[in-house]
Amino acid sequence: EERSRDAELKSEELQAAKEQLEDKAKELQLSSKYKSEFLANMSHELRTPLNSILLLSEMLSDDPDYELSEEQKEFANVIHSSGQDLLNLINDILDLSKIEAGKLEVSYEEVYMNEFIDRMERNFLQTAKKKNIDFEIHFNSDVPPIIYTDEQRLQQILKNLLSNAFKFTEKGSVSINVEKAQPEEVQFNRLAPQVDTWVRISVSDTGIGIARDKQFMIFEAFQQVDGAIMRRYGGTGLGLSITKEFTQLLGGTCLVESQEGKGSTFTIIIPNLPGGMPAVTEIEAAE
Ligand code: ADP
Repeated sequence: EERSRDAELKSEELQAAKEQLEDKAKELQLSSKYKSEFLANMSHELRTPLNSILLLSEMLSDDPDYELSEEQKEFANVIHSSGQDLLNLINDILDLSKIEAGKLEVSYEEVYMNEFIDRMERNFLQTAKKKNIDFEIHFNSDVPPIIYTDEQRLQQILKNLLSNAFKFTEKGSVSINVEKAQPEEVQFNRLAPQVDTWVRISVSDTGIGIARDKQFMIFEAFQQVDGAIMRRYGGTGLGLSITKEFTQLLGGTCLVESQEGKGSTFTIIIPNLPGGMPAVTEIEAAE
């Protein structure tokens, strides 16, 4: 009898603990929802005044009618480029909070891959020239000419990878490789049996590289390899976490291979989702 009373007490205790945990989980969920909403609203409110700063500083530095001195123009330029940095940061925070709140929408469309990669190349030609870094594109003929994906998201993924590649490379080359990936490589993905074309896009550089024991953390928000690198190169540590989240949203996966002092290759493998496929947000992202 003693034992059965003990057991009863235990199960009551367990029940109470379970309820406590459930309450805590609800509380956490709610506060995380408030946090995401707050970030989304705040980002929106910050963008409006920032747009005037950007517009007016650009007018000041560009318009010959103002007759500004070279130094004044230079100041206007600095205001403009700092404002642009701030806008990028706000947009990144907004994207991350949308992802966290599950509110980021994916819109599928036909993307002409060749033209898409050409556009990415054009976006970074100036940077490559300025830093005197070779910029190479390898586009394999096995890639289907049209890929069904979200062009805007894909563009942001590649922009993040390319700006990192150029930022962390002082000499040598940056290259983009586009080819078909084998379905076996993406077997972890629930889409794998239904999708027959996967595309692999990788961005390689001959830059500073990332130590092996730091590679796991770079995809986490606000994580940078170390303080010295951050002070030297700036940045927010948001780019790669957005890259990873976006790639997963597109049904794909994101990988890194890197050797300290030699260079890095960031690879994304994404499915070519023909129309009528289930929304990718409903599909468990690949890990
Ligand atoms: P940010 O570049 O704004 O710091 P990211 O999330 O894009 O943030 O990158 C996180 C960190 O990963 C960087 O601070 C850097 O230490 C490292 N990293 C990213 N890309 C590269 C690269 N191509 N070469 C070397 N290190 C890189």
